[in-house]
Amino acid sequence: MIKAIRGTRDLLPPDTALWNFVEAAARDVFRAYNFHEIRTPIFEETQLFSRSVGEDTDIVSKEMYTWEDRGRAQSEKGQSITLRPENTAGVVRAYIEHKLWERGLNKLYYIGPQFRRERPQKGRYRQFFQIGAEAIGPPTAGSESPARDAEVLEMLATLLDRLGITDWTLELNSVGCPNDRATYNEALKNALKPVAAKMCADCQRRAVTNPLRVFDCKVPEDQPIIETLPRISQYLDEPCRRHFDAVQGILTAVGVPFTLNDRLVRGLDYYTRTAFEFTHGALGAQNAILGGGRYDGLSESLGGPHAPGIGFAIGEDRLVMSLKESADAVARKPDVYIAPLGPGMDRESARLARELRRHDVVVELGDETFRLKKSFENASKMGARFALIVGENEVKAGAFALKNLESGEQISVPRAELAAKIQSAS
Ligand code: AMP
Repeated sequence: MIKAIRGTRDLLPPDTALWNFVEAAARDVFRAYNFHEIRTPIFEETQLFSRSVGEDTDIVSKEMYTWEDRGRAQSEKGQSITLRPENTAGVVRAYIEHKLWERGLNKLYYIGPQFRRERPQKGRYRQFFQIGAEAIGPPTAGSESPARDAEVLEMLATLLDRLGITDWTLELNSVGCPNDRATYNEALKNALKPVAAKMCADCQRRAVTNPLRVFDCKVPEDQPIIETLPRISQYLDEPCRRHFDAVQGILTAVGVPFTLNDRLVRGLDYYTRTAFEFTHGALGAQNAILGGGRYDGLSESLGGPHAPGIGFAIGEDRLVMSLKESADAVARKPDVYIAPLGPGMDRESARLARELRRHDVVVELGDETFRLKKSFENASKMGARFALIVGENEVKAGAFALKNLESGEQISVPRAELAAKIQSAS
């Protein structure tokens, strides 16, 4: 038997109703902050990710689904292509490619699948979904302002509140900019020199090539060493410090609680200044619901103009897991099951179904070969609220027997009043 590939899964009804509920809430909230939807391709040129996310990150060095495409001619070498492991790089590429700044498009959001070859476990998949947003643009659009960071964070708090997720924690850090990062990297390298030999192979490599990435290490034995390392917070230059203070000031003013965590560096190289994560206690080991940060140099590093930005990605799989709502409560059941009674009634039933559906009634259509008992059984199994009996007598009289499947009450309703009657009972 052929099964879904390890780390991928089918999302089935009624759970899909919960996914749609989450996506609708996100679209609603994002609209109020003037974000617009963008949809970028699922695969991109590999170097888009190696140049932005970074060669030394776990994502690029271990987790990407990469292959060489066929060249046009048989002798021609193909292009290296990768399934997107995240969506910020794709959005910034599109921002540059279409010169979106010329159209004043500075706030974009996306919803879609991402792919990473991680070890699958609860809350961690190889195909997973992210809902993300990017505020990017020329500094004249306010893209560099700490007000933008605070706005994005406040928007996230609003979305989580709207979804009824209350027990979240916002962890906040500043990872500085190239100016302070150079001094900090030196200090880190020096601190790592005497201890690196005792660390895991990844950290030994990181200690030389990209010391900040040591903070991504999950190996338990390395943690006491990492605890002793200097933190970026001690090395921020004056502009970075002022920016970070301003972000915190606005968050406090708008009533969004946060905690500072100077170990938080996020596993992607493009971040500068503000970095953050929202965690949720009930999720267990994979407790990060979402993460993000500022990336002031990303556009330029991909060949675009100076366009500071800040964005985030919500792990939709984990967000859905942390919802209190049950899928059953959100999923829409049929309002009415139409039970055609006897030969020739499929036609009449189809006409009635068409009329009712035009009034936004959810209709499930039975079959004239079914007996009434079978139709009622089907209706109950689907959770329909009403059964509508369509027989020759009803068609002649222009009034139909409408049975409330909860109370058992049955009344005769004229054709023209059916939709209103069914809807008024909801
Ligand atoms: P990142 O793109 O690594 O900053 O991750 C942002 C969010 O995406 C995380 O906080 C998780 O909620 C979610 N996420 C990342 N990787 C996975 C995965 N393999 N499976 C499920 N969710 C993930």
